Amino acid sequence: MHKLILKAGREKSLKRRHPWVFSGAMAKVQGTPGPGETVGVWSATGEFLAVAAYSPASQIVARVWDWKERAIDRAFFDESVKRAVEQRRTLLKDADTDALRLVHGESDGLPGVVADRYGDTVVLQLSSAGADRWRQEIADAVVEASGVGRVWERSDAEVRQLEGLAPVTAALRGPRQPTRIVVAENGLKFGIDLEHGHKTGFYLDQRANRRLVRTLAQGSDVLDGFCYSGGFALNALAGGAKSVTAVDSSAGALDLARNSAELNRLPGVDWIEGDVFHLLRKFRDEGRRFDLIVLDPPKFAPTAAHAEKAARAYKDINLLAFKLLRPGGLLATFSCSGGVPADLFQKIIAGAALDAGVQAQIIERLGPGADHPVALNFPEGDYLKGLVCRVAG
Ligand code: SAH
Repeated sequence: MHKLILKAGREKSLKRRHPWVFSGAMAKVQGTPGPGETVGVWSATGEFLAVAAYSPASQIVARVWDWKERAIDRAFFDESVKRAVEQRRTLLKDADTDALRLVHGESDGLPGVVADRYGDTVVLQLSSAGADRWRQEIADAVVEASGVGRVWERSDAEVRQLEGLAPVTAALRGPRQPTRIVVAENGLKFGIDLEHGHKTGFYLDQRANRRLVRTLAQGSDVLDGFCYSGGFALNALAGGAKSVTAVDSSAGALDLARNSAELNRLPGVDWIEGDVFHLLRKFRDEGRRFDLIVLDPPKFAPTAAHAEKAARAYKDINLLAFKLLRPGGLLATFSCSGGVPADLFQKIIAGAALDAGVQAQIIERLGPGADHPVALNFPEGDYLKGLVCRVAG
């Protein structure tokens, strides 16, 4: 096996089992591993540390597959994928949901590998050189562990560029068609566009939070900001909302949302194509008021370097939302920015309430569901946080 040898003293993070090797920690490579090929990682003093995938183009020059010396092959992926799928077995028994994440990257010991199950289709998103190198073995392992008939690849996340990888969208196993499918989540149906949808097609990490919103919406005037394919909006309507207004800037997303509304026979959502930053101001100027507002924006801060700019954007929309709430109203507000930790997010929301002149309290703290675990040795995986705040009555 090729060897990646670290600089003196640079083995500490690996010893804490953080699965990334940064290029600055690398002293030299022995052998000629290509992108994605397996290397043994060794300390400067000759101690074996891990088996990893080499990625010469990336600042993350290696990602750990295993902490013991072993071959990386089909059997490795069979074991790892099976373990991840087995851990989710109890989540699958819920008959009114057939969409969930089966493999969640580093936190499931498979760096760069995301596998989302949508009914009989698994969508794979491979974002590291190692994951890319092993796509066929991973596809076979997914079929074997989950029993699905179809594996579709949507490897077009921007992070692939950092690994020197081109985007890939392809049918890996099973037929190419159809590319529009329907899944069930907590008894509601949602259309998924496998070719053009965001991420792998659906924001599976919000499943439990959408359900919670369903329970909070009875009799309310609801605003769903950044609604994508209508997950929160349709749950609010299913939960007995009086009115639902849903906003997204993407026409494609709203097309999916309207279709899903029809599938569920839940008419009456006012779908608006527009910019949430702009519309919140318009609603304020018009004196419109809501009882429940959901804000689930895209990630404003992918890394800590963007945190300050992101903080201003979060504060802006949340301040406006607090102003639009009636007394006793609820704000369910989210951040999926890896660069904004939970304590900072809470401070931003507190600042927004203060400047909006409202007294508010946190009544729920939210995260992604159990199919999106966060490995304790990989805090970068802790990206989604949410707060439900109640404004004083
Ligand atoms: N709440 C959704 C997921 C939202 S993802 C769900 O449960 O499925 C973020 C969404 O914000 C995307 O659909 C994107 O199109 C939209 N978006 C990004 N910037 C926007 C803006 N300034 N105004 C309105 N929508 C925006």
